[in-house]
Order: sequence, then structure tokens, then C-alpha cells
Amino acid sequence: MIDSTQANTLLDALITAVDAPKTNNTGELYCGLDLGTAFIVLTVVNDKGEPVACAYQFANVVRDGLVVDYVGACDIAASLKKQVEKILGTELIHCAVAIPPKTEQLDGGAVKNVAESTGMNVVAVFDEPTAANLVMNTQEGAVVDIGGGTTGISIFEHGKVVTCEDESTGGTHFSLVLAGAKGMSFNEAELYKRDAAHHEEIVPIVAPTIDKVSSIIRSACRNRHVPEIILVGGTSELSGIEDRIEKALNIPVYKPNHPMFVTPLGIALGCRLHMLQEAHHA
Ligand code: ATP
Repeated sequence: MIDSTQANTLLDALITAVDAPKTNNTGELYCGLDLGTAFIVLTVVNDKGEPVACAYQFANVVRDGLVVDYVGACDIAASLKKQVEKILGTELIHCAVAIPPKTEQLDGGAVKNVAESTGMNVVAVFDEPTAANLVMNTQEGAVVDIGGGTTGISIFEHGKVVTCEDESTGGTHFSLVLAGAKGMSFNEAELYKRDAAHHEEIVPIVAPTIDKVSSIIRSACRNRHVPEIILVGGTSELSGIEDRIEKALNIPVYKPNHPMFVTPLGIALGCRLHMLQEAHHA
């Protein structure tokens, strides 16, 4: 069973750092750049692995895990880097990125190139569930990433990914259902959905879509030993989604604080770990 205390402490510190970045850093800084369907997130941790800064921007430059607007992605990444550098008063040099599982051939290095276009040195490219699990640290279980466009299920055995599935159904589908039910535009529904004060009202409206997510998870976990499920990704921010999925699957479901930031934080932690390991082997 995961002990989510440490993950929650790190995630709370990252969210605090969005509005109150830690300045006066003397050691190395390590960055994670996460390019998603809905957001681009830049996270920074210090030499002790503590979050020191986080900036993000709504973006429409990635679809199904692939960069579809390269110039737009580079512009946003550069602007986030500049913003963070100005606040921290230092240049950001070391960076890692992550891509969805099984997209290495399709991505063709685009995500890495976006990060490098900002002038940062990309030291590692992780797959997203591996990055998420650097924060959650499950040994045996499924990390379920409910993002903007898709739900990704990665099953871990002995702390390593053994299988991944990615199926279309994510926050965009939730927004479309909500927009239809409430007579809103898609963009209005997106904003309405992100306000936690509306979640109690929203969950019954999007219940069939949550049930679709549950059935995707059930099918990915069939014939596997999955003693626990960990929800990450922006759509997991929806309060109550965890209870409905747990009831449907009859498997304990854990949701950390600020699930949308698990993978972005894991990428920065992975950057630090990777560089420490390289230094150790040098
Ligand atoms: P993908 O993983 O599909 O590539 P992504 O990485 O951009 O996409 P995330 O950033 O994990 O995905 O999640 C984006 C989704 O999360 C969007 O649909 C957004 O509306 C939803 N979301 C973000 N914050 C909240 C919130 N507070 N409540 C409900 N949904 C939210």
C-alpha cells in the first residue's frame, strides 16, 4: 500500500511555489517540462529535491500526446522559462521531459526539441508513468493518468512499469458532456469544471463518462495483479471521481493532493536523480 504522506508534502510544496517561489538557491536546480493536451507545465526542484518553482499555461499545442503546434509549444516553453528565471534570478540549465508510453517513434524527439529550443540542456526523456511514480512510489499497482484527451493506465510490478494502455476519454469529454447538459460553450464548460465549488454538481452530470473511465481501467487491469490504483492527471482533480471509480472497480483508489502536478513534479525529480546517478558513475 502506498504511503502518500511524502508525495502529498512534495505536491503541497510545489503548489506553494507557484505563488511563492523559493529564491536564494545556492545549489544546482533541476527542471521538468511537461507538454500536455491542456497545459504546459515547468517545474523546478533544488539539489535536495525540494520544489522551488512551478509555472504553467493553458495550451493547445499537443494532441494525443504529440506536438501539433511546434512553434506555439516553443514559444510557451520559452515564456515559462523566462518567467521562472526572472523570479529565481538565475538561469535554468538542466531539464528533463516526458512523453506518453509507446510514442517514442511517433514523437520523433519533438518534445525534447521544444525543451532544447529554450536553451536548456535536456538530460533525460522519461515515459510519463515512470515520472509520475517517482512521486507516488507504488511498487504493485496501477497509476491511472486521467488527462485532457486520454486515460493512461500503467501497471507497476516491483516498482517498474510492466504494461501501459492509453485510451481516448479524458477531461475534454467531461467538458463536452457538461457543455451539452448546461447549454454552455466548450470553453465555458472547461472553466466551470475547474472550479472545485462546482464539483458536487458536476459529478452526477458526468457520471457516465466517469464510468467509461472505470471500464477502461477494468479492461487494462484484467488478468493482472492490481492491489491499488493511484489517480493522477488534471481530470483526477474532480472531487468525488475517486469514490465512483473505487466503487465501480472494488479496488482501493488513492488520489494525492494536486494530482495534475504529479507527472510534472516527477519529471523534475527525475532530472535531479538522473544527474546525480551520472555524477556517481563518472
Ligand atoms: P494528456 O495527458 O491527455 O496529454 P494533459 O497532460 O494536458 O493531457 P492534464 O494537464 O493532466 O492533461 O489534465 C488536463 C485536464 O484536466 C483538462 O481537461 C482540464 O479541464 C482538467 N482539469 C484541470 N484542473 C481541473 C480541476 N480543478 N477540476 C476538474 N478538471 C480539471
